[in-house]
Amino acid sequence: MNLYKSKGLTEIINASGRMTALGVSTPRAATLEAMASAGQNFVILHELMDYADQEISKFTGAEASCPTACASAGIAISVAATIAKENLLQIETLPQVLDGFKNEIILQKGHAVNFGAPIETMIRVGGGKPVLAGQANKVHKEHVIAAINERTAALFYVKSHHCVQKGMLSVEEMAEIAHNHQLPLIVDAAAEESLSKYGEAGADMVIYSGSKAIEGPTSGFITGKKEWIQACHLQYLGIGRAMKIGKENIMGLLTALADYKEERTAEEIETMKAWAERLAIELNALPGFTASVVQDEAGRAIFRTAAKVDSAVVGMTAADLVARMKEADPAVYIREHYVNTGVLTFDLRSVQETDLVKITAVIIGCLER
Ligand SMILES: *Cc1c(COP(=O)(O)O)cnc(C)c1O
Repeated sequence: MNLYKSKGLTEIINASGRMTALGVSTPRAATLEAMASAGQNFVILHELMDYADQEISKFTGAEASCPTACASAGIAISVAATIAKENLLQIETLPQVLDGFKNEIILQKGHAVNFGAPIETMIRVGGGKPVLAGQANKVHKEHVIAAINERTAALFYVKSHHCVQKGMLSVEEMAEIAHNHQLPLIVDAAAEESLSKYGEAGADMVIYSGSKAIEGPTSGFITGKKEWIQACHLQYLGIGRAMKIGKENIMGLLTALADYKEERTAEEIETMKAWAERLAIELNALPGFTASVVQDEAGRAIFRTAAKVDSAVVGMTAADLVARMKEADPAVYIREHYVNTGVLTFDLRSVQETDLVKITAVIIGCLER
C-alpha cells in the first residue's frame, strides 16, 4: 500500500513528467537500498565528501565536484564561492559581504526566472547581488560587458525551459566574455540531461539537481574547475551548513548517477511510444476526445499523448476537466502547458504500468460527475 495514502494523503498518478510540487521523481530500488545502508553506518564526513567529489567527476568529466542539498543550494554555494573564495572570514560572514569583496553576479534578463522560487533569491542567499543585463527578450554582448565593473564576482547562465529561449547569448558567448574579464561563469543546468556539455562549453561551475533527470534523492551537485570547487566545499563552514546534504543522500545520489543514462535506449523510446499510443486509443474512444502521440516540443526523445477536448461535446472546458482530475481519487496530474487551447498532455515517464490503466477510468468518472 502507498505509504502516503495510508496516512490519509492524496494518492497521485503523475502524468505530468517531473514536478517538484509532486515530489519530483521516484528513485530506483538500488538507490533506496544504498540510502538505507548508508544510513545505518557512520562515516568520516570529509572522506565521504572527497569520495563523492571524485565519483561525481567521473560522470561529468570535470576536474572536481561538490555535493549539495539540491540545485538551489548549489546556486547559493557556487555564488558564495565566487565572492569569498577561500577566505575564512568572508566565508563565515556571508551572506553579508565584507568591505573589499566583490559580489555582483551578472545574468541575462531573460534568465531571471522563477523555477518554483526566483533564481535571484538563491543568488542573494549566497551573498550575491543579481545584476540583470539587456532586455527580457534581447541581450547583446555589449549589455553584459557594460554591466561588468570592479564589483563583479561572476557571470551566471540559466539553462532551462523556464528561460526566454530566443535573443539570449549562448553559454559559449557568456564564457568568452567572462574569461576575457578574468571572471568565472556559473551555469545552472538543474534539470538538464547532459552532465558534460556545459563544462565543455566553457563554464567554470555547473549546477545539477540530483532528483530531476538523474532521478536520485533530494540532492544536487556543482561540478567544474578545481579551484572553484575547492572554494565551494569550504562554504560548508558558512552558509552551506544551513543546506547540508546527509550521508544517505550522497550515497543515493552516487547510486542514481551510476544507473543514469543521458540518452534513452531505442527500446525505452519504443516502450514510451507504445504506452502513449495505448492511452491515445483509450481516450479516442471517449466522445469529444481526439488523441494522438506527439514528440516533445524541444525535440527531445520524449513522446506524450495529446488529447484535444471538444468542450461542446464533453460539457466542460479542458481546464475544468483538469481541475476535476486533480480532485479525483486517485488524483491524476497532467502536463498543463496547452490546457488553455483545449489540449490535455499526458507524460507517462513517471507512471507505473498498473496506474496507466486507471487514467481513462478517472477521466470517465470526472466526466460523469
Ligand atoms: C528545478 C530547478 C532548480 C532548483 O532545483 P532543486 O534541486 O529543486 O533545488 C534550479 N534551477 C532551475 C533552472 C531549475 O529548473
